[in-house]
Amino acid sequence: MATIDSLPSLAQVIENHQLSAKKSLGQNFLLDLNLTSKIARQAGDLTQCDVLEIGPGPGGLTRGLLAEGARRVLAVEKDARCLPALAEIAAVYPGQLEVINGDALEIDPLSMLTPPIRVAANLPYNVGTELLVRWLTPAVWPPFWQSLTLMFQREVANRIVAEPGGKAYGRLAILAQWRCDCRIVMSLPPEAFTPAPKVHSAVVHLQMREKPLFEADPKILSRVVAAAFNQRRKMLRAALKGQAPDIEDRLMAAGIKPTERAEQLSIEQFCALARELAKP
Ligand code: SAM
Repeated sequence: MATIDSLPSLAQVIENHQLSAKKSLGQNFLLDLNLTSKIARQAGDLTQCDVLEIGPGPGGLTRGLLAEGARRVLAVEKDARCLPALAEIAAVYPGQLEVINGDALEIDPLSMLTPPIRVAANLPYNVGTELLVRWLTPAVWPPFWQSLTLMFQREVANRIVAEPGGKAYGRLAILAQWRCDCRIVMSLPPEAFTPAPKVHSAVVHLQMREKPLFEADPKILSRVVAAAFNQRRKMLRAALKGQAPDIEDRLMAAGIKPTERAEQLSIEQFCALARELAKP
């Protein structure tokens, strides 16, 4: 019977299965199993959880998640060339690893998971951001997941954890921090990947809050935040003109100076404004 020790190194896996990295799929692989285990540990206690992994590739992070004791891993991979490599891992963890060949943006694996669920991924950055926004804006809260542990381009990671007052602060920070405790838990240089990307990367851990930080209607909050940051250089009274005919009064009722700009407003202030705009 195959054992974990009989699995080939990831470099060998890539050679055996001829997994030359495809740029179109954002393939920058992690080949150091110590590193992938370290990332898996950032996802928290996995022993009682199903883990949804997006983009397992040759399976470095998948091995890390299983080695850290994940009850079960459901992995969604677009590139069919990776399936034989992932099958080798599945053989070592019978019944614990299931792989779906498909596009994570198109399939809904929810029915195949049993709560509690954690999500972990090293994804192409565009797909990662798109999925993050979807995971942060479900129809109901709490969402299907307890936590998200995701690799991003460092610049995107900085935007997720950004505080008011700087250029990085915007829609992503508010969306993420309103509903999650967000932390950068690891930084990785380009050389950590094969092939090396042009930019630095970081792992962000988002822990779902039972309740959002402050009360607000998610649709109104999302609309007002998008409008405010679409014209982030303008004063709020101008940027939010389309939100209500009496926007200056509403801003003041929410305790906000109409002459302020979007990046100066805290999440609490945006929520106060969303509540004010919900009034007739
Ligand atoms: N997790 C592996 C690792 O850490 O070495 C691979 C990471 S690589 C940055 C991104 C992986 O996501 C690739 O295996 C790629 O084929 C896969 N991928 C890209 N777009 C995808 C999509 N839309 N749905 C599912 N997987 C995708």
